[in-house]
Amino acid sequence: MKKKQDKSTPKYPIVWKKKDFSIKIFCSIPNIATGILLTAAENHFVIDPGDGILRDLSKELGVESLKKISHIFVTHGHHDHLGGVWSLLTYLRVMNKTSRLKIYYPVGCIEIESIYQAFTKVYANDLPYKIELKKISSGKNFSVKNVKVKPFAVLHKEFLPNKKNKRIVPALGFNFTYGGKTICYGGDTGYCDSLVKAANGADLAVLEAGHKDAVDDDMHMTIEEAHFIGKSANKYVLVHIPE
Ligand SMILES: [Zn+2]
Repeated sequence: MKKKQDKSTPKYPIVWKKKDFSIKIFCSIPNIATGILLTAAENHFVIDPGDGILRDLSKELGVESLKKISHIFVTHGHHDHLGGVWSLLTYLRVMNKTSRLKIYYPVGCIEIESIYQAFTKVYANDLPYKIELKKISSGKNFSVKNVKVKPFAVLHKEFLPNKKNKRIVPALGFNFTYGGKTICYGGDTGYCDSLVKAANGADLAVLEAGHKDAVDDDMHMTIEEAHFIGKSANKYVLVHIPE
């Protein structure tokens, strides 16, 4: 039976566009997948390539534009934010991508490093393009092509194997600025000051509300918290809401 869509559940894809700066959120469902495409003029950037990203990018861009993708941003190592990396990398190999691909990820995110190591081992003699890993940390701003990127630390946790205690996950949010407009994407996070600051005055804030109900556990925000932060931006959308 098909699940009834709750009013608070966003309908994907979510698209925001100002002139030639846009973001398309193909999906963002906790524990399933996230997949986001950022476009600034002729440049495309992939954010949080969860499962299904290859299907969505392929449909959206076609082979040639997909091969030109040069930058991927990963907010943290959870499977629903990077589960599509292997298939994307393999597809680009099969399609004979030759230009360099840079993957930006938070310091301490061993998942991306492990995927990279395994991938470059499997295709050691058969990889037509170069992959460059770029560890990033909060406050160290940089530019990629025509976009300014401001990474900021967020507050995200995961359960330890005992299912009771939690540990902090290396996790970042990003502010992307192009053409005088800023998009703030918080990734997965509990309510935190850095996100409050980053979202304030942004032209668009993409905010997770992973907890439908009020749970104070520093893993995700509640709908109320996300709305509260969102109101400080010019516009905001809530994502990562449990379905
Ligand atoms: Zn997460």
